[in-house]
Amino acid sequence: MSRRRIAVFCGARSGRGTTYVDLARGVAEVLAARGIGIVYGGGRVGLMGVLADTALAAGAEVIGVIPDALAAREIAHDGLTQLHVVGSMHERKALIADLSDAFVAIPGGYGTMDEFCEILTWAQLRIHTKPIGLLNANGYYDKLLALFAQFRHEGFVPAESADLFESEGTIEALLASFGW
Ligand code: AMP
Repeated sequence: MSRRRIAVFCGARSGRGTTYVDLARGVAEVLAARGIGIVYGGGRVGLMGVLADTALAAGAEVIGVIPDALAAREIAHDGLTQLHVVGSMHERKALIADLSDAFVAIPGGYGTMDEFCEILTWAQLRIHTKPIGLLNANGYYDKLLALFAQFRHEGFVPAESADLFESEGTIEALLASFGW
């Protein structure tokens, strides 16, 4: 079987303190140790940069997909296994989805949420059936999970859509929930 790849959605910032940097580093190390390739937004800033640098140092395949407008602002990572420069954010998300066998959101902000919710929506629409995970380390996403419960309670998300993604506190548990 060919190498598996996970898309990792994560912050273009590092977050408060060192907690999130340590988390991103740990995720990269676990994926690298398991021979799982990483697909991500292609930047070298924030958790994205930490993730890519750590995985590359551990010998993992790291593929970036970045829109030319962001690449031109000199934030594209120049040491990746592959860097795809695309024309728009929409092309980027479509290519990340095509290149990946699963998707994981670790802590981040609006961009991370956008990527996670889009891939979740595509699963709901049966555009893909690849595993999706939310890394809820230290309860970072507890309030998002509560909001999603509210969506179901108020009838905007069907009960069966609750199963479209896994939520776990560690990357190891998330991979296990995928059956990986
Ligand atoms: P955010 O969570 O708002 O920090 O956005 C992070 C996510 O959006 C990443 O997964 C990237 O795919 C994308 N993104 C946001 N900012 C950048 C950037 N400066 N360079 C590359 N990708 C970015």
